[in-house]
Amino acid sequence: MVPWPRLPDWTLTTNNTNLTTNNTKTTNSRGPNSAAGPNQLAAAIEPPAATLPLLGHGVAELEAWAQTQGQPAFRGRQLHDWLYNRGARSLAAITVLPKAWRQQLLQLPVAAPAPWGAAAATPGEAAVAGLQPAGDPEPGRCLLGRSQLLHRSDARDGTSKLLLATADGLSIETVGIPAGDRLTVCVSSQVGCPMACRFCATGKGGLQRSLAVHEIVDQVLSVREAMERRPSHVVFMGMGEPLLNSEAVLAAIDCLCRDLGMAQRQITVSTVGVPKTLPTLAERALERLGRAQFTLAVSLHAPDQQLRQQLIPTAHAYPLEALLEDCRHYVAITGRRVSFEYILLGGVNDQPRHAEALATLLRGFQSHVNLIAYNPIEEEDFQRPSPQAVEAFRMALVRRHVAVSVRASRGLDQDAACGQLRRRLASTGPAA
Ligand code: SF4
Repeated sequence: MVPWPRLPDWTLTTNNTNLTTNNTKTTNSRGPNSAAGPNQLAAAIEPPAATLPLLGHGVAELEAWAQTQGQPAFRGRQLHDWLYNRGARSLAAITVLPKAWRQQLLQLPVAAPAPWGAAAATPGEAAVAGLQPAGDPEPGRCLLGRSQLLHRSDARDGTSKLLLATADGLSIETVGIPAGDRLTVCVSSQVGCPMACRFCATGKGGLQRSLAVHEIVDQVLSVREAMERRPSHVVFMGMGEPLLNSEAVLAAIDCLCRDLGMAQRQITVSTVGVPKTLPTLAERALERLGRAQFTLAVSLHAPDQQLRQQLIPTAHAYPLEALLEDCRHYVAITGRRVSFEYILLGGVNDQPRHAEALATLLRGFQSHVNLIAYNPIEEEDFQRPSPQAVEAFRMALVRRHVAVSVRASRGLDQDAACGQLRRRLASTGPAA
């Protein structure tokens, strides 16, 4: 086994962007506070024993890391090229690296969860775990930080939904949505979600853990590989509440811009609202990224508190007025307008009076409203609104001078709603 050299710059930390860590800050299936016991304190003063996956790190970090392994700095640049430009999935694929070093690296302990199949899967995951990743195990996959493809579902309109296996045998959804010159990747920020929105398939299963930086970046690379196209946009609208994993989300945005050449303006972070997090997100984005130019999309889904907390149970702890006040704060700090997402549920929140109330709520607010027609899920009786109802709602907002657009439904024939594919496969296994 290659001994891990202790470096002054990479002391043990809970920051996901460092190459050595025990990753204790990440919320896991045992809950956010479970790690805060004596073991954690002990871990904090022990030398790091393992390396984090390399994906998610920039060229300077990879150069420095290569040097800690007794290699010249340019080996780090080669790793960077193969990780980000060539999308290497295994060490074996990086033939430019000396074979002896690759063999050595395979012995390195990786501070990621146990390899596929070794983890105690939850009952929901057990069925999905029946899906074995295609192909042989790829040596060094965990060190690089790549997922494995479990299942791919293609819709007639070209949308592709991928089910990816994390290193600890959990599964996450990511979606590639082509539209003309654009390829948007809808990424997950958590495995499952604790927010329990009633209309959402992901919310039915609760939270298993937050994703690490490399697991978010990997989704973009996986879609690029599967669709053989370079993604142009990334939206954090998949599984999970990004503001409950904001440090990893910001680090992933940093990586997407720095290492994959995306622009922040091509990235959208969507939240249903977590108390007291929006101003912090704005400040941390400025600190971490130098500016906050990604789009913040806040999911409203109702024009009043009573209806909103019927649809989003966690909203009871975050009054609509407080959420909007935090949005104003966010706009003041970043200078960016906020988008508001509004899922139209037939007969529930899609009536003219709801549009009128929404316009009143947003009066004077520098914003844009995105209307989304609901994609039905099995577990709830909500109905998709008619096209006429969607158009009437849109026009009611236009008449009240609200900037509004309707998001086209994509991939409707293939488990379009967030978390639907994962839940279907967990309950039935893969379709024949
Ligand atoms: S809609 Fe988003 S925030 Fe709500 S449960 Fe689903 S994934 Fe979580």
